[in-house]
Amino acid sequence: MRKNHFATRAIHAGYHPKQHQGALTPPIHISSTYAFDTVEQGGAAFQGENNRFIYARLGSPSQQLLEQRLAELEHAEAALATASGMGAITSAMWSLVKPGDEIIADLSLYGCTFSYLEHGLKSFGIKITYVNLSDANNLAQKITDKTKLVYSETPSNPNMRLVDIAALAQITRQYDCKLMIDNTYCTPYLQNPIQLGADLVVHSATKYLGGHGDLIAGFVAGKQEDIDHIRMFGLKDMTGSVISGFDVALLLRGMKTLHVRMERHCKNAQEVAEYLACSPYVKHTFYPGLDNFSQKELAQKQMRMAGGMIAFELNATREQSAAFVNALQMILCAVSLGDAETLIQHPASMTHSTYTEEELLEHLISPTLIRLSVGLEHIEDIVADLNQAFESVFSNKGLAISA
Ligand SMILES: *Cc1c(COP(=O)(O)O)cnc(C)c1O
Repeated sequence: MRKNHFATRAIHAGYHPKQHQGALTPPIHISSTYAFDTVEQGGAAFQGENNRFIYARLGSPSQQLLEQRLAELEHAEAALATASGMGAITSAMWSLVKPGDEIIADLSLYGCTFSYLEHGLKSFGIKITYVNLSDANNLAQKITDKTKLVYSETPSNPNMRLVDIAALAQITRQYDCKLMIDNTYCTPYLQNPIQLGADLVVHSATKYLGGHGDLIAGFVAGKQEDIDHIRMFGLKDMTGSVISGFDVALLLRGMKTLHVRMERHCKNAQEVAEYLACSPYVKHTFYPGLDNFSQKELAQKQMRMAGGMIAFELNATREQSAAFVNALQMILCAVSLGDAETLIQHPASMTHSTYTEEELLEHLISPTLIRLSVGLEHIEDIVADLNQAFESVFSNKGLAISA
């Protein structure tokens, strides 16, 4: 059967006004509980013998529509929406491992994911091993029968390292082990890990999917059987990370324009990356669309476009780098990413301050790295702001510019 294109799925999948009194926009279901005709019918629902809703922690019609649409966008059998990206990651991981098991995670992770593994799961008797997964051979050497989960972001937050999803999947498939990919940076518009062989995909929908900085949400997608287990154990019993009907509505609205916004995020980011790469004040720019990106070939193999995120390091001290961020006028110093506004932040001080100074180095996160989420403003205004901040901080102030 012919499948609709991404843009069409993002707008229509799972919903037709005909079934909702003609309402173009899906209704918001806020009911916490659902009434049954009889005790017997309620009992059957609890046994999973009919498809009735029971209680909103287990799902609602609003959430069901969102999940159907997310699954279609990620080419997954099923999806589970959650109250945050961390809600998705924790609900999924609590469902997959028990004491004595091992998780192999990539070296560079979003700060709270690292904290959950390092300070959370470790204290419950789960072994966490960090491996540089940019080279799949490293996984082949470290994986054992105890490894139940391999976890990575690609590109990684904040330092833009990629992993070869298909190569990792080839290895995990030989074990009783799942491969879970955090696809937040790419969104399903740029990369589909399940099609590349991953078992599960997690997202912070707070970022590009919502796209307007007005909600916190997440989801996990994968095989029906895995998603059912994560819903009925990880979410229902372990985290309770339930998305509200109001956030479902905001997210569905944001997703209708995801494909249009991503095109512009990528176009703007490419131009900003090229500007930074030529700047005498910048030591290195990490962006998959640049010719000197060390994993350019892999980026072209598994990402449709290079994305809206850039990391860069200045020819400067940590203090001077902070002064540069502070000198920006239009670009905002804020965490989060994927919004219409261009956002900049210093991971070592902010999002990745969950790592100690030593851990930052071990995990390949430079203490002077700056993370930039390129927004949807006019490209000339974004570049002009970067330019004026460079000039105001570095010109005529005796900063040594290394060649
Ligand atoms: C933001 C983020 C998360 C966490 O998502 P929340 O919605 O903030 O809970 C996880 N992974 C990545 C890569 C992120 O950028």
